[in-house]
Amino acid sequence: MTQITNHMPTKELQALDAAHHMHPFTADADLAKKGARIITRAKGVYLTDSEGRQIMDGMAGLWCVNIGYGRKELAQVAARQMEELCYYNTFFQTSHVPAIALAAEIAKLAPGDLNHVFYAGSGSEANDTNIRLVRRYWEVKGQPERNIIISRWNGYHGSSMGSGSLGGMKPIHAQGGLPIPDIHHIGQPYWYGEGGNMSPEEFGLARARLLEEKIQELGPERVAAFIGEPIQGAGGVIIPPATYWPEIQRICDKFGILLIADEVITGFGRTGKWFGSEVFGIKPHIMTIAKGLSSGYAPIGGSIVCDEVADTVGGAGDFNHGYTYCGHPVAAAVALRNLELLQEESILDHVNNVAHPYLNERWKALEEHPLVGEACLIGLMGSIALTPDKATRAAFATEPGTVGLRCRERCFANNLVMRHVNDRMVIAPPLVITPEEIDVFIERATKSLDECYAGLK
Ligand code: PLP
Repeated sequence: MTQITNHMPTKELQALDAAHHMHPFTADADLAKKGARIITRAKGVYLTDSEGRQIMDGMAGLWCVNIGYGRKELAQVAARQMEELCYYNTFFQTSHVPAIALAAEIAKLAPGDLNHVFYAGSGSEANDTNIRLVRRYWEVKGQPERNIIISRWNGYHGSSMGSGSLGGMKPIHAQGGLPIPDIHHIGQPYWYGEGGNMSPEEFGLARARLLEEKIQELGPERVAAFIGEPIQGAGGVIIPPATYWPEIQRICDKFGILLIADEVITGFGRTGKWFGSEVFGIKPHIMTIAKGLSSGYAPIGGSIVCDEVADTVGGAGDFNHGYTYCGHPVAAAVALRNLELLQEESILDHVNNVAHPYLNERWKALEEHPLVGEACLIGLMGSIALTPDKATRAAFATEPGTVGLRCRERCFANNLVMRHVNDRMVIAPPLVITPEEIDVFIERATKSLDECYAGLK
């Protein structure tokens, strides 16, 4: 067998990659033009690529490596678990210690009566579970016509048929016949881009009230659930106005519909709390989790379910749903150790008392930059809006995303990973980032913004 290793020349690796590896959200033409950037190792907040460059990862991979890269404790737990019990399933009345211990720990961390975990391998799978779970709940309650789920345009819940339908990303809906039936979308609480002359508070209320209008339009007896990310992540780190979530909660309570908080990004310390719902006082019936649950060291996700929904569904016989890797023992053992490390090392305190205050101060100062309309940050997830006119919050005349992409490329050139969503730059560094590393981050981000701005003239 040909040995393909980290030591091969980058060009050869790129050629093999382009020939055999189909990438998510990537066009062949782009791979052919430049080749993929090949990451060979990582430690703390730094990646190393096949050219030996040290790149600061301002995105914690895909918003997931909360604990930072290269933690030996997690590798050791995985090896130990593989030797002891590499796999067993959790179907048909079987279980194992890693799945039990992790579920108990998650139930301890989750607020309210979110006491039950249904495992999945990813956030997408977990949201597919949620569609089936809430529909099953209403079937058991004798209201099978309550099968509609309402979500938001520009929300992101994954890319499978179900989760991609829940999401409100038009490029995803444009391919393959999404959304599936009985999923409806309402406008997002994006004040900076869509708020016009309203104050953020007025706009937050107006956008939340779209939910009530949609429920009335569809018929309250048809609506099963509402799903939303406490803070939209992939949509551009959109922090909703303070009035938004309390009004959404009021409307869900009024019509007795289930509330699902998609915490795939906002869970496990990203916002400085264990869950983003706690930041906004949201009381969900179900939370979707993945990413930071294992800090990305193993693929695992799930739904944290409240007593009422879990007892109703579980009490009605078999719930005919599950994945081979539900509660995979290696992934569960890694996730449990990750949660222990987050606690033993007081990483949420680090976010709240050290990393957030310092990054926030330096991030907010970027609003002085001629290209930056707003800079916002909650915990360690943030964004900046690029604009040609700060006063009017105008969009660029170019195709949306042109300037953002240029800025992202300048970041890469300056050894910093910052992602763009249209013309917003988004960040979510590992939660362990230090003040010294934040200085490097800001220095590289500022240089990239300067170069991007100079290129526009
Ligand atoms: N939900 C949210 C809020 C996400 O941000 C993502 C991924 O970015 C998902 C669900 C899908 O998770 P996965 O990519 O693990 O399927």
